[in-house]
Amino acid sequence: MTFSADTFVLSYLVCAILFILGLKGLASPATARRGNLFAMVGMALAIITTLLNPAVTDYWWIVAGLAVGAVIGIPIALKINMTALPQLVAIFHSFVGLAAVLVAGGMFLQEQGHLTTVTLVEIFMGAWIGAITFSGSCIAFGKLQRLLPSAPLQFKGQHLINLLIFVAMVGFGLHFILEESVSSFLIMNALAIILGVTLILPIGGADMPVIVSMLNSYSGWAAAATGFTLGNMLLIITGALVGSSGAILSYIMCKAMNRSFISVILGGFGAEEGDEAAQERAAAADQGVKEAATEDAAFMMENAQSVVIVPGYGMAVAQAQHAMREVLEILEEKEIKVKFAIHPVAGRMPGHMNVLLAEADVPYDRVFEMDDINSEFNQTDVVMVVGANDVVNPDAKDTPGSPLYGMPILEVYKAKMVYVVKRSMSAGYAGVQNSLFFHDNTYLVFGDAKEVAENLVQALKGGGH
Ligand code: NDP
Repeated sequence: MTFSADTFVLSYLVCAILFILGLKGLASPATARRGNLFAMVGMALAIITTLLNPAVTDYWWIVAGLAVGAVIGIPIALKINMTALPQLVAIFHSFVGLAAVLVAGGMFLQEQGHLTTVTLVEIFMGAWIGAITFSGSCIAFGKLQRLLPSAPLQFKGQHLINLLIFVAMVGFGLHFILEESVSSFLIMNALAIILGVTLILPIGGADMPVIVSMLNSYSGWAAAATGFTLGNMLLIITGALVGSSGAILSYIMCKAMNRSFISVILGGFGAEEGDEAAQERAAAADQGVKEAATEDAAFMMENAQSVVIVPGYGMAVAQAQHAMREVLEILEEKEIKVKFAIHPVAGRMPGHMNVLLAEADVPYDRVFEMDDINSEFNQTDVVMVVGANDVVNPDAKDTPGSPLYGMPILEVYKAKMVYVVKRSMSAGYAGVQNSLFFHDNTYLVFGDAKEVAENLVQALKGGGH
């Protein structure tokens, strides 16, 4: 079968449109499935179109590559736990980075001596961005998978060392462009790989989602540079889509955490849970909070007219989402209005709570974003916060010295009654105590979120109101 050049361009254009529709669909849980379908059809069409290109003369290597990818990818995708998605995304990004390095290296070795300066610059860009993405994503994977300590590993003079490595890398890159030197190409890549490690190691595990999103953006730019090298329009478009959407997502996450991107990159934020200072603060703060039993919370919930449930990182860790869906169903049977309220950075990755609630079959129309629900809290009878902490901390609004100050929060303190489910008085991700716990209308229900949620279901079932 032969195609004209126009047919290829047209087919690639259709793929690009499908990718854009895919991204648009992913913006809302209700359309995410459709978005994924568009993207999958687009990718299948892109692969078929590329295979039909007359420049492709030998299919064996391609079939072998596809087979290796499928053997690795399919079992992982089938088995992966929802809570392990961030590390899966991280390791997949590392493959994109490695691919960019290998394509750049292959192109250079194949065409050495006949390359224009522009192509050499493209090879340089694709290779170093790809190499940083590769090693940085491996470190992010290791931290998220707990193969490496998730605490920020800072070392003296780290910023200066990183700067020196970067300057040396650019220097060898320039030498490579001017002299087409193989050894400069290899050294430049080695330095970029080291830089990926030294840049990501000092960043705490909990900041990793922002970093994964940033590395996602890098992998897109590396792919776009590779697209220029290979003269492949679709790779340029796709790379630019991934690069810019990753950058926008990183920006949105930083904004929702009230952190500057630079402060995330520089690393070292947040006390580890269980950290000594946090424990001391927790012990000191342990006085003055009011404790409630699960049964008390159940009684208030079934006698309320409106209930808002605020899930957080603790719900994800405990896997309490299924029991919370049962709570929703029981309360709705009793004709109580129930909503879930989601903060943009609740949990440890964007959309973390949406994914968990969708997995537990909580209907999308019961799930509300922060901006849509904040005005309702002052008319809400009962709020139940399940394993969330920073995202409901009023200090973010009224305590200028707090690390959270300026971060938009779910304003649960405005409700008539607030129950907070958590195991202890220890701090959340930001490592600061939550002044909400000391409000008159707030009660703490201590325990593992799943156990408390299951007890709540039992108490509500037995309630018979
Ligand atoms: P936090 O980390 O602030 O608080 C989680 C709370 O859950 C802790 O206080 C902990 O208290 C409790 N918890 C932990 N395990 C359990 C359990 N098994 N059962 C019950 N409770 C439990 O989480 P939030 O969701 O409120 O906030 C997210 C934080 O993460 C924000 O600061 C955000 O900026 C940050 N972040 C979010 C990202 C994202 O993309 N979503 C990315 C990077 C950072 P205790 O130990 O007492 O049980």
